[in-house]
Amino acid sequence: MQPNHSFTYDTIILGGGIVGAATAEALVRRGHTVLLLEQFAPGHTRGSSHGDGRIIRFAYPEPIYIEMALLAYPGWASLAERAGEPLVQTTGGWDAGPAASPHLHELEENFRRYHIPYERLSAAESNRRFPHFYLEGSSEAIFQPEAGVVFATSAVLALWRLFEAAGGIAVTGERVEAIEVLGEQIRVRSVSGVHWQARHLVVAAGGWSRTLLAALGLSLPLEAAQEQVAYFAPRDEMDHRAGAMPIFIDYHTEYPFYGLPQIQVPGVKIGWHHTGPVIDPDDPQPFDHANLLGVQDFVRARLPHLNPESFEQITCLYTNTPDYHFILDRHPEFPNIVVGTGFSGHGFKFAPVLGDILAALVLGEATPLDLSPFAISRFERANLSRRTGA
Ligand SMILES: Cc1cc2nc3c(=O)[nH]c(=O)nc-3n(C[C@H](O)[C@H](O)[C@H](O)COP(=O)(O)OP(=O)(O)OC[C@H]3O[C@@H](n4cnc5c(N)ncnc54)[C@H](O)[C@@H]3O)c2cc1C
Repeated sequence: MQPNHSFTYDTIILGGGIVGAATAEALVRRGHTVLLLEQFAPGHTRGSSHGDGRIIRFAYPEPIYIEMALLAYPGWASLAERAGEPLVQTTGGWDAGPAASPHLHELEENFRRYHIPYERLSAAESNRRFPHFYLEGSSEAIFQPEAGVVFATSAVLALWRLFEAAGGIAVTGERVEAIEVLGEQIRVRSVSGVHWQARHLVVAAGGWSRTLLAALGLSLPLEAAQEQVAYFAPRDEMDHRAGAMPIFIDYHTEYPFYGLPQIQVPGVKIGWHHTGPVIDPDDPQPFDHANLLGVQDFVRARLPHLNPESFEQITCLYTNTPDYHFILDRHPEFPNIVVGTGFSGHGFKFAPVLGDILAALVLGEATPLDLSPFAISRFERANLSRRTGA
């Protein structure tokens, strides 16, 4: 179907990454007329949602994300069924750190509290069971069998496909530059001068959200950071494919290293969480060599069956809030504008729930979780803490 410029849609979704696509699909399934606007192509590599995989896990220190993950797993299963293709693969999750690490202690406490199965492993036991990793005697690991990978670009494209098949209208290659609130209606205009109107707007614009929201009088402390990851090739016969190797997060350093087993790209994807520079998302920067050296040192110390000299790099954006928690709220002045951003490098795994939450905010319905941790008003409060991993 073609976009209609004089029609007033129920909702316009600004941004077609995983969050905007999930919200668009959730709303069109509920019978809303929805226009999804994206400046690039579906599945593009300039934002946050591209690549072969993302970690999905219960292993969080904050209970709210465990509760979100409890909803996300069935959400992914239902989406995979609608899409007719697998979107999640269980691999198990391996979290490691010094034996006295408060991170491991918090994970264990939460697993007990939510009756989530796990095993705590000594270094010797971990080295025997998971020979992909080498742990020194003073370290320990926690294994959680339900962690896994979500097939990232496949999930984005599946949502776009389902959205359009259900009658949603998508416009690509148009960059929104102006948003006007005209009473109960919202009008958006693209750089090329095209405009569309709707009764509701969802801003799910990832690293570009701050500027768009500032133009609506909402100044949010969002930063777009360019993170880089490298896929390291195995150096021997050890099987590093998903199914043979767990996802992992390593808490031996202030900012954790994380990784995913081989999915499509022939290598183990490894990143150093929250170490990328803050950038203008319209001005991508070259790879940071110092960051790569840090990741290579980690590979040498922890993953003896990978070749630290044989790798392929990509970049990707984090949209960080000061406390690394999401923003899921209505605009304080314009309740028909809903904001879903600030996913701070760990939002993908929750996409089906995020879509349902943002759709519920549009529809004025109860949300499946308490959203107070994600409220815009928290930025007025002091004492922000940074904790969460990938
Ligand atoms: C290296 C890396 C590793 C990660 N690992 C994990 C992980 O293991 N597990 C996990 O759960 N999460 C992970 N994440 C985080 C997760 O990928 C993000 O939280 C998620 O993809 C955010 O999606 P989004 O839709 O908010 O943003 P985006 O995907 O960036 O989507 C926003 C979209 O809005 C469009 N847009 C912006 N402005 C405009 C405009 N003016 N007009 C039209 N369109 C516009 C953009 O082009 C973009 O497509 C990782 C992220 C990175 C970068």
